[in-house]
Amino acid sequence: MNALIDLASDTKSRPTAAMRRAMAEAEVGDEQAFEDPTVNALCERAAALLGHEAAVFLPSGTMANQIAFRLHTRPGDEVLLEATTHPIHFESGGPAANGFCMLRPLQGERGKFTASDVEAAARGAYRHNPRTSLVCIENTTNMGGGAVWTVDEVLAVAETARYHGLKVHMDGARLANAAIAAGVPLSAYGRLCHTVWLDFSKGLGAPVGACLAGSRETIDEAWRIKQQLGGAMRQAGVIAAAALYALDHHVERLAEDHVRARRLAAAIAETNGLELLNGPVETNLVFFSTAPSGRNASDLQEALLRQGVRIGALDKHRMRACTHIDVDDAGIDRAIAAMREAMAT
Ligand SMILES: *Cc1c(COP(=O)(O)O)cnc(C)c1O
Repeated sequence: MNALIDLASDTKSRPTAAMRRAMAEAEVGDEQAFEDPTVNALCERAAALLGHEAAVFLPSGTMANQIAFRLHTRPGDEVLLEATTHPIHFESGGPAANGFCMLRPLQGERGKFTASDVEAAARGAYRHNPRTSLVCIENTTNMGGGAVWTVDEVLAVAETARYHGLKVHMDGARLANAAIAAGVPLSAYGRLCHTVWLDFSKGLGAPVGACLAGSRETIDEAWRIKQQLGGAMRQAGVIAAAALYALDHHVERLAEDHVRARRLAAAIAETNGLELLNGPVETNLVFFSTAPSGRNASDLQEALLRQGVRIGALDKHRMRACTHIDVDDAGIDRAIAAMREAMAT
C-alpha cells in the first residue's frame, strides 16, 4: 500500500531530510535572552521580508493573532474582520480570553471585504458604542477559498482604516502563497499593515512557528505579551533553522502547489455529483461540495480514505483539499483517480 496522500491540510507536510539536517546543525542559545543566533537571524530575515523594522518568533500563528489583539486594542474594543476568518472560528475564543476584544464580522466575498465595508462599520466616538480600533485582513483567505487580496485591495482598506484611526493587522498564515500568486514581494503587503505575520508550518513546510513583524516599539511590546502567554522559548534555534530553511527553499515552489490545486479543481469540476465552491482556485486550497450527488461529505471522505487519499470534510457537504510539499504530481493523479472511483460507485 502506498503512503497516504494527505490533502486534509497544508499543515500535514513533514520536514524534509534536508530541513531536518539544517535543524540538527543549528547553532542555538537561550532564545528569550536573545542568545539564540539562529532565532535572531530568522527574526531579522522575517522583518526585512515583511517590510518592517523588527520581528518576533512565536510558537504559532494563533499566538501572533492573540498578541495583535492585545497590541492594538483596549479591553472592550471592537475588531473588524471577515465573517469566515480564523480568529472567529478556530482560536477557541482566544480573542476574548486573551485579547479582551469584540470581533465584528463583516460579510465579505471569498473571505475578502472592501474599503466601503470598513467605512460603513467603523464607529464614531459615541460612548455607548464599543470603540472600533483594529481591522484584520486574512491573506490568503482560508475558508474563503484561498483567495488572494491584491496589493491595491489591501491599500484601499488600509487607507480607509487610517482615515478612521484604526490599526491594520494581517493574518499571514498563507501570505507566501498570496505573494507568489500575485507576483509581489511579501513586503508589498507587509508595509501596508501595522503588524503582519507569516506562518512557517503551513505551505512553507516547517514543523512549527510563525514570525510577527512590526515597528521596533511594537515588537518590544509584543515580546512582553509573548512572555505573559508563555510563548518565550529557550534553544529554539532548532525550530528556527527549519523556518530559515523554508524561506531559502520552499517559497518559490509554492507555485507548483497552485498548479496542482488547479489541476485537482478541474478534475473535480468534471466529476458528476461534485460542485466546485468559492470560484476559481487562486492558490493551494480547493473547496467543493458533494450536495449535487446527495451524498454526505463524511461518506465520500471515508471512501477516499479506503483508497489512501485524505480530504477534509467540513460540514454536511463541504470538503476542502489543500496541496502542499508532500503531495507531488503522482499524488494528485492518485487523488483524482480515487475521486472518480469513489463517485462512480
Ligand atoms: C492556520 C491558521 C492560523 C493559525 O496558525 P497556527 O500556526 O496553526 O496557529 C491563523 N489563521 C489562518 C488563516 C490559518 O489558516
